[in-house]
Amino acid sequence: MTDDNIQSYIDDILDALSDDSDKKVSREELEKEFKKFLEYGVPVEHAKQTLIKKFRGDTERPMGERIPIADIQPDKTGINLLCRVININSREITSGKEKRKIFYGILGDESGTIGFTAWKDFNIEKGDILEISNAYAREWQGNIRINLGERTRIEKTDEEKLAEISYKPREYKIRDLRSGLGAVELIVKILDIKKREVEVDGSKKSVYSGIFGDETGKAQFTSWHDFDLKKGDVIRVSGGYVKTWRGIPQLIFDEKATVEKLDSNKILTKDIKTQKIPIHELVERHGGLDVMVEGTVIEIREGSGIITRCPKCSRVIQDQECSVHGRIQDGLQDIRVKLVIDDGTGSINAILGREVTEKLLGKTLDEWKKTAEKTKNKDTVIEEIKNMLFAHTINIQGNALSDEYGTTIIAKNAEFADIDINNEFDNLYHELEEEIQ
Ligand SMILES: [Zn+2]
Repeated sequence: MTDDNIQSYIDDILDALSDDSDKKVSREELEKEFKKFLEYGVPVEHAKQTLIKKFRGDTERPMGERIPIADIQPDKTGINLLCRVININSREITSGKEKRKIFYGILGDESGTIGFTAWKDFNIEKGDILEISNAYAREWQGNIRINLGERTRIEKTDEEKLAEISYKPREYKIRDLRSGLGAVELIVKILDIKKREVEVDGSKKSVYSGIFGDETGKAQFTSWHDFDLKKGDVIRVSGGYVKTWRGIPQLIFDEKATVEKLDSNKILTKDIKTQKIPIHELVERHGGLDVMVEGTVIEIREGSGIITRCPKCSRVIQDQECSVHGRIQDGLQDIRVKLVIDDGTGSINAILGREVTEKLLGKTLDEWKKTAEKTKNKDTVIEEIKNMLFAHTINIQGNALSDEYGTTIIAKNAEFADIDINNEFDNLYHELEEEIQ
């Protein structure tokens, strides 16, 4: 997708958000998030709708649900925390003619620490354990800060409510990584690593990011320090923390972490398999990187079958009309399937693009087109797809992401789990024989 096309999607999103004049989101931020969706293979329309919903503020957590400090995102409101005041200072500021006292310092919980600014006197002291509701986060000079304002409520609570902030690393397996975990220790094999330069507070810094795995799964990592890591290394990394993006866990670590290189045969690449996960677990985890689920197809959703895309922006178009480029004569045909699958523990959405759909159903787009032409009815295609998939059990592998619509797996591969291929071939062969005779 070209940059122009991305810009036109961003225009759409900004347009959709223009009614909510109090919601401010910058073009840069939208673009950053949008590109991230594309990187993970999320279809553009889906990404667009998700961002519109997100920035309309539909996604705010309900009151009462506390989030770990390590998971705080900039420009969020309605944040609830259970934390300790690690330190606090005050300062006089002049706003207009008025002098007022503000307070600033550091808050901490078991996942990490964050700077805060209190815009009024909440009568809090160093060491207090606080239940904070309705705080908001802002990014300032590259750091996220918590703001405690007029609408914030704070209650002091007991020490035991907050587990002692522990800096002693605990060993985890990748399948157990959850957003907000701090002081994490993992033994992993590096499957992929890339160096890139980023700007932090006006100066260039190298970051190392990639994918690593153990026998329970794969995760992303970002190291802010050069530990001389190479693809194939097996390491014990101790002292990182976990952040997730749409359910995909990522371990973040820097020079404060310790990294020890171990025998590279300690974990063999062949033992790092795609993790097969019960659907309820994937949904609770809000997604995962390169996971596999097996379930029964309980719904073939609207938007499946042969679709037409605008050749300029690849939006799905209807009645030869692209919402951006107007009338389109030469739309590109494509095929995809949107499913809901259920494994008895839960259900999940799945999106199968052209390549995966063609392989799973054993029929190319051109063959599907012929089916549609023959019967002069597009619905034949969707009917046939329903017959082939409905109530069958399939394995789907890919990245699972979560958003307001639930958890969706973007299929990289899909296979039937319940069809005896040999049997099917026999049947086909017999049918052919009968036709020939
Ligand atoms: Zn278009």
